[in-house]
Amino acid sequence: MIRLKVKKRLYGPEGEFWLDIELETDGAEFLVIFGPSGSGKTTLLRIIAGLERPDEGYIEVDGEIWYDSERRINLPPQKRDVGFVFQDYALFPNMSVFENIAYGMKRKDKHKVMELLKLAKMEAFKDRRPDTLSGGQKQRVALLRAIAKEPKLLLLDEPLSALDRDLANLLREEIKLFQRKYKIPTLMVSHNIEDALSLADRILKIKNGKIIAYDSPKEIFSSEESPYRLIFKGVILKKLCQETHCILSIAMDSEIVEITVPKKLVDKLNTGDLV
Ligand code: ADP
Ligand code: MG
Repeated sequence: MIRLKVKKRLYGPEGEFWLDIELETDGAEFLVIFGPSGSGKTTLLRIIAGLERPDEGYIEVDGEIWYDSERRINLPPQKRDVGFVFQDYALFPNMSVFENIAYGMKRKDKHKVMELLKLAKMEAFKDRRPDTLSGGQKQRVALLRAIAKEPKLLLLDEPLSALDRDLANLLREEIKLFQRKYKIPTLMVSHNIEDALSLADRILKIKNGKIIAYDSPKEIFSSEESPYRLIFKGVILKKLCQETHCILSIAMDSEIVEITVPKKLVDKLNTGDLV
C-alpha cells in the first residue's frame, strides 16, 4: 500500500506551477497515471523512486517511510525497493540479457531468470548484448529486470510509447500477465486509452500537477464530461445498406472492423474512402 503527499515547485514552458499530489492505494493495485505532456507525471515517478526530491510531504510504502520532510527522512534511491522501467530502456550495454535481468535480484536465482525469460519468449536471447536487440526486445528485458527484483513497487514511465502498435499490444498483454502472476503494485504513466482500459484498476488523471480524477476506468471514460472518445481512422472496404442502416467494413492497420451506422450519415461515402 502507498500513502503519499508530495509538493514540488516545477518550471514549465508557461511558468511555474506546483506538483501537488495526495494519494492512497489499496494492496496490489495497477494504477495508470494519465495526463497531458508536461503535467508532472515523470517527476512524480522520479520523486517516488528517490531520483528527485520534493519540496515537502511524505511517501510511505508498505508501512515503510521513504520520505518525510517534517521528520527529515529521505531514503536514497538504492534503499527504496522499486523496479523502474524508463521510456528509453536504459539497459546495461556491457551485460548480457541474462545478466541485465539478474542484476537487481536480492537473491540471485538462475531459475527465476529463466522462468521470466521463458514467459516473455526470450530464452533464445539470454546471452545477447542489448545493442543486438530490437526496441521491443529491449523494453521486454527492461521490464523483466524490474520484475526480477520483486520490488515493493513497479514504476513504468510510458514503457510502450516508443514501440509500434503491434509490439505495444503484445507487450501490454505481457505486462498484464506478469502483473497477475507476481501481483506487484504498479504505477504506470501512459497517454494511451488502450493501456488505461486494459491494465488499470484505477486511473489517476493529472493536469498541471494536480489530480483531476481518481477512479475506475469505467467511471473515468463513461462520465458525461469525459473528453475522451475512441477515434479510429481507416478505409472503407465494403458498404452494405438496408432500409435505415448500413454496415461498413473498415480496414485499419492490419485489422478489419465492422460498424453499423444510420444510412443518412454515410450516404456520400463509398468503398475506398478514408474515414
Ligand atoms: P510529464 O512526464 O507529465 O510530461 P514532467 O514531469 O516530465 O511531465 O515535467 C513537468 C514539467 O516540470 C516540465 O515542464 C519540466 O520542465 C518541469 N520540471 C521537471 N523536473 C523539474 C525540476 N526538478 N525542477 C523544476 N521543474 C522541473
Ligand atoms: Mg514524462
